[in-house]
Amino acid sequence: MQSLKDIFKTDLKIEKDGEYIDFLKCTLKKYGFNLEDQQILDLIIFLKFLLEENEKYNLTSIKKFEEMIYKHIIDSLLMLKVVEFKSSFSFLDIGTGAGFPSTPIAIAKKDVKVTQLDSSKKKVEFLKQVNKMLSLKIISLNERAENLAKKEEYREKFNIVTARAVAKLNILSELCLPFVEVGGFFVALKGPEYLEDLELAKKSINILGGKVEKVESFEIEENKRNIIVIKKISHSSTKYPRSFSKISKNPL
Ligand code: SAM
Repeated sequence: MQSLKDIFKTDLKIEKDGEYIDFLKCTLKKYGFNLEDQQILDLIIFLKFLLEENEKYNLTSIKKFEEMIYKHIIDSLLMLKVVEFKSSFSFLDIGTGAGFPSTPIAIAKKDVKVTQLDSSKKKVEFLKQVNKMLSLKIISLNERAENLAKKEEYREKFNIVTARAVAKLNILSELCLPFVEVGGFFVALKGPEYLEDLELAKKSINILGGKVEKVESFEIEENKRNIIVIKKISHSSTKYPRSFSKISKNPL
């Protein structure tokens, strides 16, 4: 296994790379994820690069390495416990930001076809560098979800669509469900206050052809996380998504 010092020849701010690798390895094990050494190293390289670039551009508000492991890596991988990611499945992450949850999932599940979408150019540029650095076959797109969902090549073409920390569920449903193929899933990652959010979103989920299949709850170092799985049971009308101002001012 290459060491971080080989990879980052310049100023290495994470000095005790062995310690970080061990911490990540133990934490992954504790939460039931068995990754190979190379995958663990890829995750470390990704976080290291994110920490470095975060000093230039504001990519994430989480800046401590340990916190990143819990709130970014473990939290992203939790999805794998809730929905089956079959090889060759297509997976779309809307409002991916600095690559969460999709980059950790792409590292853990190399066979899944991952697409990332974000309206921020600098975040997508960062992600393209990560993909190149780690030879990940992710497609990273700089677009708004409500525009891309109108394009034939993306509409109802994904087995699994997700979004974390992007908007309330009633807004997210209109942005995400049009991308999900019938029979596929929209998986929303939410915090402790998910029930009210879900109640408010039931109408829009129904209008867009979804049905809540299950909610699974987890605790990561005392933080409650809820994963809502919505199955697409019928096509979404081509009326949706509307423009973002209409969606946010007047959610379904
Ligand atoms: N999902 C990441 C995470 O959990 O760390 C990033 C969350 S960040 C708070 C929300 C991201 O959603 C931002 O990067 C923003 O640019 C993006 N975003 C918001 N509305 C969007 C839209 N309509 N289409 C695409 N991206 C959007």
